[in-house]
Amino acid sequence: MTEHVTGQRRLEGIPASPGIIIGKAHLVDKSRVKILYQYLVDEKQLSREVEKFKGALHTEEEKLLKLRDQMPKQVKENAFILDSHLMILKDSMLVGSTIKRILNEKINAEWALKESLEEIRDVFEQINDEYLRSRITDVENVTERILRNLSGGTEHGLNEIRERMIIVAHDLSPVDTTELNISKVMGFITDIGGRTSHTAIMAQALEIPAVVGLESATGSVQEGDLLIVDGNTGEVVINPDDRAIIFYQEKQLQREKYKSAIARISHLPAETLDGHKVAVMANIEFLEEVAAAKDYGGEGIGLYRTEFLYLRSKGFPNEEELFEDYREVAEIIGPAPVIIRTLDLGGDNFVSDLEIPKEINPALGLRAIRLCLKEPEIFRSQLRAILRASAYGKAKLMFPMISGLQEVIDAKEILGQVKAELDSQGVKYDPDIETGIMIEVPSAVVVADILAKHVDFFSIGTNDLIQYALAIDRSNEHVANMYQPFHPAILKMIKQVVDAGKNAGIPVSLCGEMAGDPLCVPILLGLGIGEFSMNARVIPLIKKLVRSISLKEAQEDFETVTGLSTAREVRAYILERMKKLLPELDEKGYLNTC
Ligand code: PEP
Ligand code: MG
Repeated sequence: MTEHVTGQRRLEGIPASPGIIIGKAHLVDKSRVKILYQYLVDEKQLSREVEKFKGALHTEEEKLLKLRDQMPKQVKENAFILDSHLMILKDSMLVGSTIKRILNEKINAEWALKESLEEIRDVFEQINDEYLRSRITDVENVTERILRNLSGGTEHGLNEIRERMIIVAHDLSPVDTTELNISKVMGFITDIGGRTSHTAIMAQALEIPAVVGLESATGSVQEGDLLIVDGNTGEVVINPDDRAIIFYQEKQLQREKYKSAIARISHLPAETLDGHKVAVMANIEFLEEVAAAKDYGGEGIGLYRTEFLYLRSKGFPNEEELFEDYREVAEIIGPAPVIIRTLDLGGDNFVSDLEIPKEINPALGLRAIRLCLKEPEIFRSQLRAILRASAYGKAKLMFPMISGLQEVIDAKEILGQVKAELDSQGVKYDPDIETGIMIEVPSAVVVADILAKHVDFFSIGTNDLIQYALAIDRSNEHVANMYQPFHPAILKMIKQVVDAGKNAGIPVSLCGEMAGDPLCVPILLGLGIGEFSMNARVIPLIKKLVRSISLKEAQEDFETVTGLSTAREVRAYILERMKKLLPELDEKGYLNTC
């Protein structure tokens, strides 16, 4: 056991979601329970062993019910996941057979439960449907919780926090993040993760400050330690001294002042000094974010990541639930547009014990449009919902992870069939609904000229484009420093897509994290991006930034950086230029205020 260190220490990680918090640490242990004891039980003790098992089930039921009651409003629909776990607690294959095993084989409850799980695993492995097969993780999850109850161990669950604390975990999946009890959780820090991971994106959507990729957070922080977490810079101070506390409290104050000052000008347009106007839109993950998107001055929703909704119900939501959600988004944001992206499950989306079959290389696996084309029924129901919602506002449709024309043809063929079906049923939808694609796979960049002839718009997803082009896992802290938006290859790729769009006369927007990064925006403006979509919170700042430069200057800057050969050179050049325009940027290019 390591000795408790009391002095002030600092860790540096990757800023994932902005905001400064000062509070006590709560360590979350998500490690699996090991069964230490397997033993035969004396005949007379068997009924006691069964009672012990039933007691563990009862404890679990109570915990799940409590968890369901306490779910934050934004993710209330996730309750279905808990319902499914409650059902597993009553499942005869798990519960009934465990009791039988205890009595017949005269073994302890833990051992019997583990054997039942093995048997269920064998059954699941025979299932052809990949999705259903993957649901074994739910059974495993519940089994683990029962085992933990049997061993008397505490779970350190995310929702069992009594006072407002800062979560310290090895990793949190996007699902874990949605489960955080926002009223109790001030923010979180993790050992692993990257800046553009979906966990980081989810934390931003929920406005939970976070630092990821600290590598040793769980090893360095002890339960109850006082922490300062700066989600803007990635700094974490453990057991800070008074000076550090005063320094960060002052920073907190400045941030609040800055936020309210900039919010007051959020409605002003994003127009350069020489009169060039660009559209600034919001990325959202939940329907509940639409109002904030408007408040922050978003001129529409440039990316609605629809996959998070799929998490909320047992299995997938039905067409009606999807339709209601999309209709509401379209109505609230209307007459401004909303680009609804079809399902992008897979990759780092929902790497949790709740979803998606485990793949050796999930980012290169059955993700997004690939999954939809393989499971057309899931795709169809979402397309029907989007089309139906298009009758209530200005909805556009977008396919993610397109790698070549065939996928566009296949996806549009299904779309055509769904439209025909709606026509024959007399169901209303916008017959002119615009259909676009995300450009986020390098092969799509190379054939962008071909793709442009088949779609109404492009939206460049730099989060994935950088990941795939530079072969850098966007969620991996060990290579986070190599995740370089300013890599000359990335800038050339973006330019190629912009040119292909221009030649074909279709608009090109950018919705990766680069669009909301003040360092990147002038260059993107200079290379011809006309629409930027980002986390709503940064919209006022990006609009202000656009108003402070001229298109001519931005174009000259872009020309200059095309003559540079490394990401470091490009970044250094831009940082120097930007420091004059945005004094809020620190030495590393982090925003200390927003
Ligand atoms: C992207 O890849 O840049 C993008 C916007 O999509 P996501 O982050 O959801 O993968
Ligand atoms: Mg993407």
